[in-house]
Amino acid sequence: MRTFFAPGRVNIIGDHIDYNGGMVMPAAISLGITATLTPRTDRRIYLTSDMDGAHPIVLDLDLPIHFDPARNWGNYPAGVIKLLLDANIPIEGADIHYTSTLPQGSGLSSSASIEVLTGFALMTVAGYQVNRIALALLCQKAENEFVGVQCGIMDQFAVAMGKKDQAILLNCSNLEYEYLPFHIGSYKLIILDTRKERKLAASAYNTRKKECEAALRQLKLQHPNLKNLCQASFQDIEEAIDHPILAARARHAVWENQYVYEAKDALEDGDLESLGECLDASHFSLSNDYEVSCDELDIIVDAARTVPDCIGARMTGAGFGGCAIALVHNSIIEQFKEYVATIYTDRTGLSPQFYVCDIADGVHEIV
Ligand code: ADP
Ligand code: MG
Repeated sequence: MRTFFAPGRVNIIGDHIDYNGGMVMPAAISLGITATLTPRTDRRIYLTSDMDGAHPIVLDLDLPIHFDPARNWGNYPAGVIKLLLDANIPIEGADIHYTSTLPQGSGLSSSASIEVLTGFALMTVAGYQVNRIALALLCQKAENEFVGVQCGIMDQFAVAMGKKDQAILLNCSNLEYEYLPFHIGSYKLIILDTRKERKLAASAYNTRKKECEAALRQLKLQHPNLKNLCQASFQDIEEAIDHPILAARARHAVWENQYVYEAKDALEDGDLESLGECLDASHFSLSNDYEVSCDELDIIVDAARTVPDCIGARMTGAGFGGCAIALVHNSIIEQFKEYVATIYTDRTGLSPQFYVCDIADGVHEIV
């Protein structure tokens, strides 16, 4: 039996700009999914998860694998397995059991975690040298084409390529990346899970993408060389876009991309106050100009920001529920949780979850 681990991820800053030519700054986290893999000799894969007590999901490696709604969560690993077979990677039968410390559907990328974990484990056991970026791309393709979720590359990239105590500065359009030491001294990165289901996220994501395309079309009438929204200036936007909502969407792209670079500089200078200001400003833009926050995220972020030793907070990920992050001094974490939970529950009736988050390595075998 062999054991593998894949982390979840947070996006520290840079949301909803990956499809506008902007930069993102994700990091892998210490919460994640563990898989134990026991080889089988009958060319079958049996998948079980401790989040689902039902019968194992069985795949026959010599039969075609199609999406099957009845397979439920098993479609995430099944999609990866299908693409590994399509790529002629010589995987063999196995019992794979998943256990998890990562909340599902909260925007911490449990889907990318289970995908990358499955691919990495099966390839490693087959004696195959894993190219982590190729694996991330394969898993994104599985989620896009097999499961049918139009995610970008950030999640799978962070899960596959994460490094302990390093954030990743990633250009999603060409996969250029660099590691940024995430040294935050006596502060901690806290994940605040609103426990609000991300129901509208998928449809809103598509609407925002269309709005951005429309904004870019208007800009291009006056600036034909402009490649994407993040390259525009505020003046271009004011002059070229007549619709206030489209102008606001474009402004978000420009601001957010700027905040990513400011956050990079702040991290490199060890200027945590400025890093916190970037997080705050990013939340403001996502909530007001881009309108992908929700009451629950705004309430939890506002509550966090009233704590003096919290120096920045923002929603993270696609929005409409899910998680926020905050930078909080390590001497007040318990009081912080209690205070934020009281206000949040009082105003929403929901019980939040908090995770003190360490930035961790990407997918690996546990030996
Ligand atoms: P997120 O990636 O933000 O957590 P998604 O909706 O993209 O949210 O993916 C969540 C889905 O991933 C779950 O509904 C489930 O199908 C699958 N999943 C995540 N973790 C596990 C696990 N430990 N075992 C089985 N399936 C899992
Ligand atoms: Mg996901």
